[in-house]
Amino acid sequence: MNKNLQHDFKSGQIPFCQICNSKNLFDFLDLGYQPLANTFISKKNQKNNPVTLYPIKVVRCRNCGLVQLDHIVNQSEVYHDEYPYIPSITGVVNDEQLEFAKTCFEKLKLKKNDLVVDIGSNDGNLLRHFKNLGCRVVGIEPTDTYKLANKNKIKTYKSFFDKKVSNFIKKKHGKAKLITATNVFAHMSSLGSVMSGINNLLDKESFFVFENHYLGNVLENLQYDTFYHEHLRTYSAKPLKFLFDSYKLNFFDAYKVSRYGGSLRCFVSNFNLQTSKSLKKIYQNENKLFANDEVYNNFSKKIYKVSNNLQEIIHKINNKKQSIVGKACPARAVVLLSYNNINYNKIPYIAEQKTSLKLNLTIPYLNIPIKNSKVFLEDKPDYILLLAWHLKNPIIKKWRDLGLKSKFIVPLPSVEIL
Ligand SMILES: [Zn+2]
Repeated sequence: MNKNLQHDFKSGQIPFCQICNSKNLFDFLDLGYQPLANTFISKKNQKNNPVTLYPIKVVRCRNCGLVQLDHIVNQSEVYHDEYPYIPSITGVVNDEQLEFAKTCFEKLKLKKNDLVVDIGSNDGNLLRHFKNLGCRVVGIEPTDTYKLANKNKIKTYKSFFDKKVSNFIKKKHGKAKLITATNVFAHMSSLGSVMSGINNLLDKESFFVFENHYLGNVLENLQYDTFYHEHLRTYSAKPLKFLFDSYKLNFFDAYKVSRYGGSLRCFVSNFNLQTSKSLKKIYQNENKLFANDEVYNNFSKKIYKVSNNLQEIIHKINNKKQSIVGKACPARAVVLLSYNNINYNKIPYIAEQKTSLKLNLTIPYLNIPIKNSKVFLEDKPDYILLLAWHLKNPIIKKWRDLGLKSKFIVPLPSVEIL
């Protein structure tokens, strides 16, 4: 491993590339100061409680191509005990996790009793699918959701993942044939410790598989709402190769999957395997499509334009005294709302499905409360701003089937009223 590289970051401003450490950074998007996207407050804590805002500025490394935030918020503040996210409560996510487990099991030729360790394992739902396939499983989860996993008989330890934890697992459960990380690998500020932990815990001829939102989709669909304090890095294949090379790991395959508006699923081994055709094609596309400053300048120009458009539409609706509310509050909703200055004066509430952990809480700073979405059938709002716009088809269909006639405003990649 390349000892000269620094991959463990302190909170605060970070003036160098999180992967290759170059200082040649190009600053292309400033989303201002925003509250943390997964820190909601209850009504009783709302009064007189100060809210901390942190900058979201996005930069690109001209050396390796990584897109990253230039400010890191303390991880225990971001992943606090009441972190309100359990993916498996949405049917779509459960299906995707099942597919992920089956794909890994078959493609990597896993055997019964092989150990699978999931980093950031949440309620253990992904591991449950591996367990059903006959694997032994261990989860590592920093928030209190680990209790739910253990209740569901998925062995889970409460911690961030690092070398110390990897030693503990090795001692207690043996070495891992597969380590997985879905939607957490772009988030970690202690990337170096995580990498050493992975190297330490993998058995010989073993694998690390992860999935994260992909720069290609972010650029293509103007998904600036994926830039929030948790997403320290927005990956593309080229900088990932640089990272794994520096830990003597072999990045051998990757392909795009649809999760969260477009993710890249990546396969890494600790032994030699040929680079797949699919990954070679991704490298070629990246070299062609996102290798210069111009692409990023255009990206931010388009964002300014689509945001102005959205703000004008909402302003008109507010002025005409028509009703407008929000639907769905994934983390990205907080970014879109904050950046467009949409607070409770403009949108009096956001509705979430009845199983949401965010019900009856309020988005700090914007002061928008979250209600149960059955309220739509009573309120029949004129307009609904669809904040989980990447899921527009199933959401709109569901409400049309229930007879709701409200117009849906889809904010991205261009403003549509449906
Ligand atoms: Zn770099």
